[in-house]
Amino acid sequence: MKDCNQCGKCCLQYGATGLSVSSEQLQYWQSFRPDIYRFVQNGDIWVDPETGLKVERCPWLSNKPNQQKLTCGIYEDRPDDCRYYPSTVQ
Ligand code: SF4
Repeated sequence: MKDCNQCGKCCLQYGATGLSVSSEQLQYWQSFRPDIYRFVQNGDIWVDPETGLKVERCPWLSNKPNQQKLTCGIYEDRPDDCRYYPSTVQ
């Protein structure tokens, strides 16, 4: 598998609606990362806490300043599907 080149294509394709999350990870976020847990609703990620609607783009994906590259704002605590991509996303 190639190293990540931060093109963001996988995050753009799957980051809004294609991810699942384990109950253990949800519990971790609820206890230690309430900023992430705000975007969970009924075990579903990602839901905009302001509107209650599913997001159209992963809220943690952002452009690196002055670069074409994209980066994950919750990299250390990202969903397992992101961590183990491409083996877990279907
Ligand atoms: S949580 Fe991070 S790695 Fe996962 S889709 Fe969003 S930006 Fe990409």
